[in-house]
Amino acid sequence: MDRPTETTGSALLLRAATFAAWVHAGHRRKGSASEPYVNHVLEVAQILAEHGAPQEAVVAALLHDTIEDSDNDPEPITHDRLVAEFGQAVADIVAEATDDKSLPKETRKALQVKHAPTRSDAAKMLKLADKISNLRAIAASPPKGWDHARRVEYVGWAGRVAAGLKGANPALDALFDATYRDAVARLAAEA
Ligand code: ZN
Repeated sequence: MDRPTETTGSALLLRAATFAAWVHAGHRRKGSASEPYVNHVLEVAQILAEHGAPQEAVVAALLHDTIEDSDNDPEPITHDRLVAEFGQAVADIVAEATDDKSLPKETRKALQVKHAPTRSDAAKMLKLADKISNLRAIAASPPKGWDHARRVEYVGWAGRVAAGLKGANPALDALFDATYRDAVARLAAEA
């Protein structure tokens, strides 16, 4: 059977997944289980694919932390590199989801809240799926050294960012709300 569009789509997705696996080869999640970092980007991409996000957003999800997390590498991943390998649309969504690491952490967190409503629909979906994955991780495998108060603060911040990301994909909005409620309930049960 000749289904060129699907073949191309799968090939592009797998190319992005392989690219991300290489970039994140030495990276681990902050959680107590120290999961390989690539688990996170695969989860974000899966959430988007299962909720009808456009293909560019799913590919961008696989790549969404490659710029931010390769800044100390001998050859950091750049926006231009992503344009050359995956096209302008994908690279631009990744750029929208990338923090400026030259700024202090608290400034970056405040800017995520401020900029959320101005993002493209694809970037809103990507960032919402990213927060869903992070909230699941906070509940299931909290970062070493994060006490209860710090986790409560993180969940509250994620909720404030998410408020500005909603409206692009109602099914994803509902999944965020369910995940947020679950995280709040788990933290309350521990208090
Ligand atoms: Zn992420």
